[in-house]
Amino acid sequence: MASLANAHLLAPPPLALSLEGTQSLNLQSTRARVPCHPLPSSFLTSSSRSRRSAHGRPGVVCGGLAIGEETSATVAVEVEVKAPVLPFRVGHGFDLHRLESNLPLIIGGVNIPHDRGCEAHSDGDVLMHCIVDAILGALGLPDIGQLFPDNDPKWKGSASHVFMTEAVRRMHEAGYTIGNLDATIILQRPKLSPHKAAIKANLCELLKAAPEAINIKAKTHEKVDSLGENRSVACHTVVLLMRA
Ligand code: MG
Repeated sequence: MASLANAHLLAPPPLALSLEGTQSLNLQSTRARVPCHPLPSSFLTSSSRSRRSAHGRPGVVCGGLAIGEETSATVAVEVEVKAPVLPFRVGHGFDLHRLESNLPLIIGGVNIPHDRGCEAHSDGDVLMHCIVDAILGALGLPDIGQLFPDNDPKWKGSASHVFMTEAVRRMHEAGYTIGNLDATIILQRPKLSPHKAAIKANLCELLKAAPEAINIKAKTHEKVDSLGENRSVACHTVVLLMRA
């Protein structure tokens, strides 16, 4: 068992970093109760307060480490946790749609000539849906399905630039802008390379981003599974937001 003299070497990161708990970019504090082990009061931050239970003793450090000699004590600590304002935020998006006959195939706002298209409540733009989720994820907001439910008639047949515009509005409202975005579309056929420039132009306009900040990749699925059999289309996106 570690001695108190070495406890500082084992102490976890500052509580404010290890216990981030808010889902909002607003700097609203939240309370967290965490299991703790006893340590001298000098280890407490000014923003934390210890409370003894019937068996506990004052002075704690948190993070699940067995430090000190009184590990049987049941001391709890209440800490004020604030989400840090980060200069950058990263988000990931994924989306997949079934491909069915006699439906339009719209990717990045471009109508791609094909013998089948996306089955969806909206226009089924897999790339835009994916980007929306990446931005919302970076902001710590609910996902696209929560903001625009597919059982809401309001969004029936909706063009997906509506969702993009709302995601970008929320991004700007939170004080962020696009740093860069990298997307990979998985589609067995047709080839997307002839349409990449038009797709990128649409995205740059909607995202208020420079062309150098947007990268669109496309690949097949090697004829494997529904993607490879051209029965579905999928997309992955990673986005980096930066403080405006
Ligand atoms: Mg979708």
